[in-house]
Amino acid sequence: MEKQIKKVVEILAKAKNVVALTGAGMSTESGIPDFRSPGGLWTKIDPGEFSIDRFLQNPSRFWRLNLRLKQSGEFDLASAKPNPAHLALAQMERLNILKCLITQNIDNLHQRAGSVEVVEFHGNFLRAVCLKCKALEPIDDVEERIMSGQEETPRCLKCGGVLKPDAIFFGEAIPSRALMISQIQSQKCDVLLVIGTSLQVFPAAQIPIAVKIKAPPATVIEINREPSALHEQVSDMLLIGSASEIMTKIINRLEGELS
Ligand code: NAD
Repeated sequence: MEKQIKKVVEILAKAKNVVALTGAGMSTESGIPDFRSPGGLWTKIDPGEFSIDRFLQNPSRFWRLNLRLKQSGEFDLASAKPNPAHLALAQMERLNILKCLITQNIDNLHQRAGSVEVVEFHGNFLRAVCLKCKALEPIDDVEERIMSGQEETPRCLKCGGVLKPDAIFFGEAIPSRALMISQIQSQKCDVLLVIGTSLQVFPAAQIPIAVKIKAPPATVIEINREPSALHEQVSDMLLIGSASEIMTKIINRLEGELS
């Protein structure tokens, strides 16, 4: 592992355009379960609950489930705090090495760690969006109205439309701006850091494929507890282990190298 860390630092120090693609594994050490690991969210609830069709059939049912997951601590994004892996990526941006961070996460932890150039590929679950007028509200406020019994299906304060968490549900399109920026960044990047994602969810998993088929291809460095579904196809380096431990080692060495 030490040899690999040294090599990664050499690559990052020389790179001109580093982009990161992160997934749920980034936040497991902040206490938020991922989907597919043992004990992950899909072992507890049916993924269909997060489909847009089921949400539209019965929004109040989803909001009740959301509150139950939050109150039981099974999926409580608001109480989670950034971990050393989030902080390392924010520091890498401050050092002007990381140029863009594309996250599949919906937990806002990169932003809270201080990352600025964040592309929210799957939206943000800390906001609610009105399905009619697109107005946004903090999800805490919406949940407050449900908990106090004011509403079962929360409604937009401006137009009365149904509110939904501003994260992408199965069956919904990726926000077009996020898709566009990701495509541009994929073309520009020379090193892609892939952290804590199983690369089973498309089109996000298309990003490492895109950076490998362009000319010249980018170097892909994968950091995961388990190898991703695409590691043989896309990853030039595979570092197996905890994202926060590995990223802490990388940022410490990188800072030493640059000072
Ligand atoms: P996934 O559950 O499919 O895969 C998680 C990956 O992270 C696995 O490869 C696992 O080995 C790895 N991993 C887990 N803990 C790790 C750790 N501490 N260090 C290093 N690697 C670790 O997640 P995905 O690929 O992101 O796809 C799931 C989808 O679910 C995403 O679209 C995401 O939007 C959503 N999701 C988000 C959150 C969140 O915002 N925190 C949580 C759950 C799911």
